Amino acid sequence: MNQPVYMDHNATSPTRPQAVDAVVRAMEIGGNPSSVHSMGRKALRVLEDAREQVRMAVNAPKSAQVIFTSCGTEANSLALQGCGRGKMFAAATEHAAVLRARSDIQRISVDVNGLIDPFQLEEMLAGGGDDTVISVMMANNETGVLQQIEGIARIAHRYHALVHTDAVQALGKVDVDFTALGVDMMSLSAHKIGGPLGVGVLIATKDVKLTAGNPGGGQENGLRGGTQNVPGIAGFGVAAERAVAERADMARVKALRDQLETRILEIAPDATVIAAMADRLPNTSFISMPGVDAETQIMAFDLAGICVSAGSACASGKTKASAVLTAMGMAPDTAKSAVRVSLGLANSEDDIERYISAWTELYQRKGAARSAA
Ligand code: PLP
Repeated sequence: MNQPVYMDHNATSPTRPQAVDAVVRAMEIGGNPSSVHSMGRKALRVLEDAREQVRMAVNAPKSAQVIFTSCGTEANSLALQGCGRGKMFAAATEHAAVLRARSDIQRISVDVNGLIDPFQLEEMLAGGGDDTVISVMMANNETGVLQQIEGIARIAHRYHALVHTDAVQALGKVDVDFTALGVDMMSLSAHKIGGPLGVGVLIATKDVKLTAGNPGGGQENGLRGGTQNVPGIAGFGVAAERAVAERADMARVKALRDQLETRILEIAPDATVIAAMADRLPNTSFISMPGVDAETQIMAFDLAGICVSAGSACASGKTKASAVLTAMGMAPDTAKSAVRVSLGLANSEDDIERYISAWTELYQRKGAARSAA
């Protein structure tokens, strides 16, 4: 049996060998970074080197707070629960890691491409933003659509609101520049860039006054208690450095993605490439195959040795339409039959051919079933 074709990099990107090496080296040190003796100091050095690598990967200022957490989800929670703002606005297409961070979220609606309307944001801020935090993701995990964070931050700051961006999906795929974006806080996650699972970071300017949800023993400058996952963090640092160094190779990935979309639309003019005309991540394609629900497609692709994901969740055996696509006003049938392909640097033309051939077979089988009915 051939190796599976992995096209699910937005779920988790396979661990980079350099990150594995860094994890192993840090595990061999074995000290606690809070200990004052030599082994503790060695572990602390690894931790601080990784902090610098992550800070530099997104061009955050030297003065920024770089707080390691257990995942991107925890980084979002720390930002949104700990920033001291009484009101929160978030784009309707945010990941659950943002939308479930607080119970008082006011959603900013999006257009058919999933982009928030700056005029609506201004209206929401009209009463003043001094007590507000706004969270808008840099890139959507399902559609890959890129929000205009720089412009959003400019508007928000005019009203003195704080701006958080979940850049978990953006790092390594597009340029992520904390300083140029003008945000106050940014969340990242190691496993989306070929680092270990279970490590995240919140980066915040020095002016953001954060309060820990989990103060514990005062680690991470009192903002995230618990002995740091030094091996995981070491892997994160190296992965962040590599992701930025190899980002230019995303041009090749984009060419593969574009080829895949063009071919599918030639085969099936009734298929929909979601937000095809929007500015998107170079690796992501969310494609709806008319009349075949996403779960069925995922299983068929899996049998053909191809790993992809649905944007939809499966509850009690019933496929639910993707909440992101529903927020974008997509028809329920289109939303229920959309499957996400997310490529990585290791994907090849052969992988694209395998995907197209499995896709075509399924599409034709469905067509034959339709004509027989
Ligand atoms: N934010 C976005 C946009 C994501 O895609 C994900 C993961 O799917 C997360 C946050 C959560 O990251 P983690 O898995 O590290 O908690």
